[in-house]
Amino acid sequence: MTGISKKTRFSPKRQAVMDIFDNGGVYTAPEIAELLPDMDLTTVYRNLKHLITAGYIKELTLSNGVASYESAYENHQHAVCKNCGKVYHLHIDETQLKKLIPDIDFEVENVEIIIKGHCKN
Ligand SMILES: [Zn+2]
Ligand SMILES: [Zn+2]
Repeated sequence: MTGISKKTRFSPKRQAVMDIFDNGGVYTAPEIAELLPDMDLTTVYRNLKHLITAGYIKELTLSNGVASYESAYENHQHAVCKNCGKVYHLHIDETQLKKLIPDIDFEVENVEIIIKGHCKN
């Protein structure tokens, strides 16, 4: 899915929101609104919602119930520092993860793990 944002035509505002995520970062809606001064928070939310529905952006709830967003380029897991809020992207083989799930007559669609702790430095 890498680089898909370049090939798809978005409205200029939607493209501006997409471009924020090009560096692989994780942002909350207010942070995005701050980076895009000509867009208010409502507009940011509306564009995020469209991009999530279209599968380009993924919503994460990493801590305190606050929604963060990142590019949906690849399914992966996260570790979050409780001190500084730094988010680490963990690429764990999903087929291995699924093997760890007990058989409860349940069809697993995807696995989202959020590991909480502290940076070592
Ligand atoms: Zn930290
Ligand atoms: Zn991530």
